[in-house]
Amino acid sequence: MQVQLKNIEVEKSKTTKINEVDFDNLAFGSVYSDHMLVCDYKNGAWETPKIMPYQPIILDPAAKIFHYGQSIFEGMKAYKDTDGKPWLFRPLDNHKRLNISAKRMAIPEIPEETFIEGLTTLLHLEKDWIPTTPGSSLYIRPFVMASGIGFHASPADEYKFIICCAPSGAYFSGKVSVLIEEQYSRSANGGVGYAKAGGNYAGQFYPTQLAIKKGYNQVIWTDDNTHEYIEEAGAMNIFIRINDTLITGPTSDRILDGITRKSILEIAEDEGIKTEVRKISVTEVVTAAKSGKLKEMFGAGTAAVVSPIAAFGYKGVDYDLPELNDDYASLLKKRITDIQYNRTEDKFGWRFKV
Ligand SMILES: *Cc1c(COP(=O)(O)O)cnc(C)c1O
Repeated sequence: MQVQLKNIEVEKSKTTKINEVDFDNLAFGSVYSDHMLVCDYKNGAWETPKIMPYQPIILDPAAKIFHYGQSIFEGMKAYKDTDGKPWLFRPLDNHKRLNISAKRMAIPEIPEETFIEGLTTLLHLEKDWIPTTPGSSLYIRPFVMASGIGFHASPADEYKFIICCAPSGAYFSGKVSVLIEEQYSRSANGGVGYAKAGGNYAGQFYPTQLAIKKGYNQVIWTDDNTHEYIEEAGAMNIFIRINDTLITGPTSDRILDGITRKSILEIAEDEGIKTEVRKISVTEVVTAAKSGKLKEMFGAGTAAVVSPIAAFGYKGVDYDLPELNDDYASLLKKRITDIQYNRTEDKFGWRFKV
């Protein structure tokens, strides 16, 4: 798919930082490209986006983002193939989800053209920032926040939609050990767990710090009501393999509808792997671990793609997962990244030409 570019105002940076960046040793999301897109919402409408040199933004201290956390974001990546052509992966789904998050946080929805044309125009300018070392990509962070002012606890009347880009290396999470959470909750029925709303993540930091103090890397979130059902792995969806069946929880108010999650489900089915989308209890996972039927657990999300879990802790007991040669995580990761990097045919129609 190719999008027709409109006249988005572009103010080019007079200098470039690209020569200061060590593209062979990129961390994740910690250096930023030369340009950013900024689009203002004023007088009841989104204006035409502008692309400008990457720079700090000025906000009034009374901006509602600071007081009421009215903010949402997306996470996506641009990939470069061996011919140097840039690609996106299912960007229309990110746009749809941004608007689902917007609606829940009483933020005005972003028109599709503004999102897609703004993004592709920015990427045309930032092409050289897409790294090519294996597993690396240009991480893209579109976000919207309340720039309108007032201490009154109500939605702002002005917003900023911004897209920034960060060349990022492969996300090596190493051997991840996780703690199944019994006390804290990431989200609740009727809450905002399905939205990529800033505060959801701030709320995870403290319980995650506690887990890290106990020697774990991440928290496995369970349902807020009973803490008996497995919901998400940190800020990723979770997959659990029992024998040869791959299981993930159904999306809900509390579980974010991940694009990686739904792509992995389709690829697994295409591979002939038996998949089940259903509630999965901690008891079932612990029982399977004890009997040797628990083969794999992994997180799935844009940043890490697939993040295998080596061990989990629950009620003071640690359970190790086996090391397999024929694990689903590696197979599924290879298939999805082959599509993303244009290394293979894309029978699903997910790849998007920039
Ligand atoms: C972003 C996110 C995911 C993964 O979504 P992708 O579209 O696959 O990147 C999963 N869970 C949470 C809580 C998230 O914020």
